[in-house]
Amino acid sequence: MSADEDPGPPSPPPRLRVAVVGAGPAGIYTAEALTRQQEVPVAVDLIDRLPTPFGLVRHGIAPDHPKMRAIRDTLHRALDHPAVRFVGNVEIGRDLSCRELHAAVDAVVYTYGAALDRQLGIPGEELPGSLAATALVAWYTGHPDADRATVEAALARARSVVVVGVGNVALDVARVLARTPAELESTDMPQHVLDALAAAPVERVTVLGRRGPAQATFTTQELRELGELAEADVLVEPADLELDAAAEERVAADRVASRNLAVLRDWAAHAAQPGRATVTLRFFARPVRLLGEDRVTGVEVERTVVDADGRASGTGETTVLPADLVVRSVGYRGGELPELPLDPGRGTVPNDLGRVLRGGGPSPGEYVAGWIKRGPTGVVGTNKHDARETVATLLADVAAGVVRPGGSGDDDLVAALRANGADPVLLEDWRAIDAAEVALGATRGRARTTLHEWESLLAAVKEAAARVR
Ligand code: NAP
Repeated sequence: MSADEDPGPPSPPPRLRVAVVGAGPAGIYTAEALTRQQEVPVAVDLIDRLPTPFGLVRHGIAPDHPKMRAIRDTLHRALDHPAVRFVGNVEIGRDLSCRELHAAVDAVVYTYGAALDRQLGIPGEELPGSLAATALVAWYTGHPDADRATVEAALARARSVVVVGVGNVALDVARVLARTPAELESTDMPQHVLDALAAAPVERVTVLGRRGPAQATFTTQELRELGELAEADVLVEPADLELDAAAEERVAADRVASRNLAVLRDWAAHAAQPGRATVTLRFFARPVRLLGEDRVTGVEVERTVVDADGRASGTGETTVLPADLVVRSVGYRGGELPELPLDPGRGTVPNDLGRVLRGGGPSPGEYVAGWIKRGPTGVVGTNKHDARETVATLLADVAAGVVRPGGSGDDDLVAALRANGADPVLLEDWRAIDAAEVALGATRGRARTTLHEWESLLAAVKEAAARVR
């Protein structure tokens, strides 16, 4: 170029193309952290196997917790950012392999959560009438993959319910099952879910903790809510609240445990009221066998003792609790994605500050955030900090030159997916689903009703597209 030739404006720096796999809170917070940093321009594809965003905010947080569910409005801001593209209805491992995805972008952040249930590993667990909490929660939040027939058949006989586990999911399940139809009427549950819950003959719900109240993992606000049910009384065995010195010490050192104990002690004086349902919290009680021939009829429960380190062991003293429905709510675990390493014991992808480890070494360009990174713990907001940590790791790799913005070329991911026969649902399509749910809810005076079936979700997209044409 000669000295007087105009070089024109400098070309913009290449964008860092990032695919985020999983549009739940961890994925959305990852997209947000990427768009908020100033170090490198980005383009983010936020991929989800469902045609809807929000993950467990949509299909985990209980529908009778509308204030908690309203976090989706905040999360939506990240989806609306011009550098973020929602790409739903695309399953990595089916529509595109991890390797193909990795080749199409500069970096991939896996945030697909921990969708699988943990097993109890006791006889009778597979009997009809024994459900994982994940199955029940998927059903009552209208997840399109929920096994409606199995859950509805189990609920139709559910007079006595035993919920195993004393975490927040167990309380969600116990509370939803003990609610009256009027208490659930304004939620966004699909109408057939509301109908099945209204028809379920639930009279007794017993929640079992294998350790003591000092070790329960539920939080106080969620616990208190059990005491506010319209037509159910909450009961606790006073003897379960007598703590040994080690448990007293633990409670004194842990604000949540100490508040929980105060709430439980208030309830210890309660007695069942005639004509009302009961929710009983039992501690030092672990299930050893589900009873029944062709379906669950009861749970054999063994009394436990908890040692100074908080470990439970059986005493050999057993009782039988009648049960038509058993819900095991003993935690989630992450599943395997083909070509991505998984620690099967922890149900997480091995990582260092979010950088995926393969064969013990870092794999630049591959990252994790959320439950698949750290395990199924914490509240929605915990994922914000977690996502920021992962994005900081990714940016450090960019600064170190191991991840190169623009290195993957310009090929459009959505075009590649369509060429592979996938049918991606983009943001405007999700808006059509959103509008259809709001319109369906309005027919019964509700803010929204969740569309439960794949067909209805995708039909909402097609109908909106046909109207535009
Ligand atoms: P969690 O808090 O880990 O609770 C799991 C429960 O299962 C524990 O009580 C555990 O007892 C018990 N358990 C595990 N294995 C068992 C076995 N073999 N036999 C009997 N009991 C067993 O998990 P989660 O309730 O699924 O909740 C997951 C995460 O989501 C948590 O961080 C939770 O706080 C969060 N969440 C929050 C909300 C909310 O904020 N409202 C609502 C739902 C979920 P041990 O402690 O003895 O292992």
